[in-house]
Amino acid sequence: MSDEMRPRIPFNKPAFVGTELQYIKDAVDRGMLCGDGEYTKKCSSWMQKHFDVSQVFLTTSCTHALEMAAYLSDIKPGDEVIMPSFTFVSTADAFVLWGAKIVFVDIRPDTMNIDENLIEDAITPRTKAIVPVHYAGVGCEMDTIMEIARRHGLKVVEDAAQGVNAFYKGRALGTIGDFGCYSFHETKNYTMGEGGALVFQDDAYQERAEILREKGTDRSKFFRGQVDKYRWIDYGSSYLPSEMNAAYLYAQLEKSEEINRKRRKIYDFYHENLKPLEEKGYIKRPFVPEEAEHNAHMYYLKVKDLETRTRLISYLREHKIYSAFHYIPLHSSPAGQKFGRFHGEDRYTTKESERLLRLPMFYNLSMEDVEYITDTILAFDF
Ligand SMILES: *Cc1c(COP(=O)(O)O)cnc(C)c1O
Repeated sequence: MSDEMRPRIPFNKPAFVGTELQYIKDAVDRGMLCGDGEYTKKCSSWMQKHFDVSQVFLTTSCTHALEMAAYLSDIKPGDEVIMPSFTFVSTADAFVLWGAKIVFVDIRPDTMNIDENLIEDAITPRTKAIVPVHYAGVGCEMDTIMEIARRHGLKVVEDAAQGVNAFYKGRALGTIGDFGCYSFHETKNYTMGEGGALVFQDDAYQERAEILREKGTDRSKFFRGQVDKYRWIDYGSSYLPSEMNAAYLYAQLEKSEEINRKRRKIYDFYHENLKPLEEKGYIKRPFVPEEAEHNAHMYYLKVKDLETRTRLISYLREHKIYSAFHYIPLHSSPAGQKFGRFHGEDRYTTKESERLLRLPMFYNLSMEDVEYITDTILAFDF
């Protein structure tokens, strides 16, 4: 195919497996569209079983799951929360909402995850929680992080937005810390448009989580017949997604293996075929530690510097390929300066984030397109 005839290749398209509309229709036919109906239950049970986790609360976003986790962790004004600066804004926002000060620490250049060896030095008497972000669905060094947290009496909230159906030493990401937060945004592996989930193992949090998610009421208990009327019990908000969204997600969870397999195929193709560029020293490819089983959430490469990345992005766009970069480090953003501080030296966060480029990666991307993208990159003048 000549370049002119080739349709543009977007950076992302929400996954579509084929059964979504049928399930949405079924949800509509059931005549109850608000949250916590049949499809919400199906999604929750699916995750309980597949991720071996006791509690699953479907939410309207991962941002909201993080907000819930922060509230359940008793974050109060002035408390400090440790996290990487190389992450999406929600990781920090959810804690800032409750008055926390964010303490950013540097990342490891190999995985782009928080450097577990820098965490302990950032702990002060005000520290309340550690928030590891499993970048690209590659697990952080959770054994070390949990050991530090337990020794200092800190909560661990895993931002597993990108880590759904990925594992660390055989355990599902999100189920290792005190709380785990998933995203089902359309850019993630499994989607419902906008959505997420809060998961945790300790049943002692169940009641508070239910009340928080149901506008501060004990409506969940009421529906189980445990109380004869529902009342305002505590602070709460509205974190329930509708059944239409849950129906879309359930179709995808059912096909999770298929989605996973396809994403792995794309990942492996990029990884194998871009290897010569790494051998020539032009790029760095993603690294996955032995303990981590990733979910092919994204494929990124790191080029020499910002200038090369800018050139590569426009070169790809000329070939109708849309790539993306992220994140502008939170500590150098206006809100990051207001709500947080960087502890220690920024050796890698800024430098590595400026080199990083994400390639198109989505379930319905054809292998022919993946080949074309790879060949186009191989022909770039690094
Ligand atoms: C996508 C993402 C979020 C936010 O997820 P939403 O469901 O859009 O709120 C949070 N953290 C990370 C690391 C993400 O990638």
